[in-house]
Amino acid sequence: MAAASVSQALEQLKMNGVRMTPQRHAILSYLMGVKSHPTADEIYKALSPNFPSMSVATIYNNLRLFVDAGFVRELTYGDDSSRFDADLSDHYHAICKHCGQIVDFHYPPLLDVEQAASNITGFVVEGHRMEIYGVCSDCSVKQ
Ligand code: ZN
Ligand code: MN
Repeated sequence: MAAASVSQALEQLKMNGVRMTPQRHAILSYLMGVKSHPTADEIYKALSPNFPSMSVATIYNNLRLFVDAGFVRELTYGDDSSRFDADLSDHYHAICKHCGQIVDFHYPPLLDVEQAASNITGFVVEGHRMEIYGVCSDCSVKQ
């Protein structure tokens, strides 16, 4: 289920016995506020000015915790380091093979594929995944 806000997510973590820290709050707020699907390194670069003692390992461990709690999706496209997405709504990703940027898009008609698959195979369909690969508009301008 999607956590609608940072405070709701934090409240839920607290109920699961996870202690809240300023760092934890900062990581989750940052992730919920960006559309860039950052890596742990990128989150580190963004937050380290405010949290000089925080390590990349701390960020990674917290991300792991958020993923396990279901607040954050881990994206493992290609062989680069994982990217993280706090937007849990049904959406797809277009991935640039040059710069690695991931852009969100929605395409509800694809749900018809699940119905078709169910009709053809007799499966009880629970979900599907799809990624689009190509060159983003920034990179194609530079080429
Ligand atoms: Zn690109
Ligand atoms: Mn996304």
